[in-house]
Amino acid sequence: MIVFNHIKDLRDELCKRREKGNSIGLVPTMGALHEGHLSLVKRALTENEVVVVSIFVNPTQFTNTEDLQKYPRMLEEDLAKLQQLTGVLFIFCPTVEELYGSNVNASAFHFGGLAAGMEGAHRKGHFNGVATVVLKIFEAVEPHRAYFGEKDYQQLRIVQELVKQRRLPIHIICCPILREASGLAMSSRNERLSSEMRQKAGFIYKTLLQGAGKFKTQSAQNVKDWIITQFSLHPDFSLEYVEIAHAITLQPVLRKTPGATYRLFIAVYAEGVRLIDTIPLE
Ligand code: AMP
Repeated sequence: MIVFNHIKDLRDELCKRREKGNSIGLVPTMGALHEGHLSLVKRALTENEVVVVSIFVNPTQFTNTEDLQKYPRMLEEDLAKLQQLTGVLFIFCPTVEELYGSNVNASAFHFGGLAAGMEGAHRKGHFNGVATVVLKIFEAVEPHRAYFGEKDYQQLRIVQELVKQRRLPIHIICCPILREASGLAMSSRNERLSSEMRQKAGFIYKTLLQGAGKFKTQSAQNVKDWIITQFSLHPDFSLEYVEIAHAITLQPVLRKTPGATYRLFIAVYAEGVRLIDTIPLE
C-alpha cells in the first residue's frame, strides 16, 4: 500500500502501471471507512491489478458547514483497515488545496431531472459539488473502472450521467448496500449515533421493506403516506423526505407503468444525524 498526497506523484506511479498493461480501479470515498466502503475496495481488487482509494472530505458538496465540520475524519484508522487487504492499493489523500488550488468552488453542471428531487432538492448545490470533485479525481486517476455504492443511488445515477455527458472512458460499477445487523445502512455518519440509536435505526430499513411489500398492491402515494405516518408516530426520527421514483430517470412515480423499475428513497434525522437509505421495488 502506498499513500499519495500529491496528484503528480500518484500519476507518475499510475503511468508506470498503465505502461505494464495494468487495469486501474478507483474507489472514491470521504473516509471514516466501514465494511460498506471496504466491500467496494475488495470488489475493485478482484477486477483490477491496481486500485486507487481516494480519501477526501469534499467541502463543495456540503450545504451545511456544521455537517462538514462534524464529518468524521480518522485517516490513521482508515489506513490500518486498508492495510489488511491483499493487492496493490494506492491511497490518494490530497489536501483541499492540492485538488482545488485557490478556487474552492463547485462548477455548474446540468443533470436535469436526475438532480431535481430528493438529495438535489434538500441539499442545494450538493450534486454540483459531487460532480466537481468526482471529475477532479477522475482526471487525476484516469481509472478504467470506478466503483460507487447504491447507498447513494442518486449520486450513482449522476456519476453515470456525468461519464456519458463527458464521454469519459470509465466503466461505472454499481455495488450493493452493506447493512449493520439492525438493518441500518452502513454509513460514516453512523459513528455519530449513540449505540442505542444505532440499534433503533433498524426501523428505517424495516419500514422501507414493509413499504416495498405494500407497493406490490398499492399506489406510490398510498405507500408514501403510510411511511410518513409510521415516522410521525415514532418519537426518535424526523422524516425529511420519502420518495418513490423511476430507477433510471429518478422521476417521482405518479402512476405505475408495467415493466418499469422503481426505487424507494428516504432521508431521516436521528439524534441530529442525517441518514439516507434506498431499496429497489418490484
Ligand atoms: P462516502 O465515503 O460516504 O462518500 O462513500 C464512498 C462510497 O462508498 C460511495 O460510493 C458510497 O455509495 C459507498 N458506500 C457508502 N456506504 C455504503 C454501504 N453501506 N454499502 C456499500 N457502499 C457504501
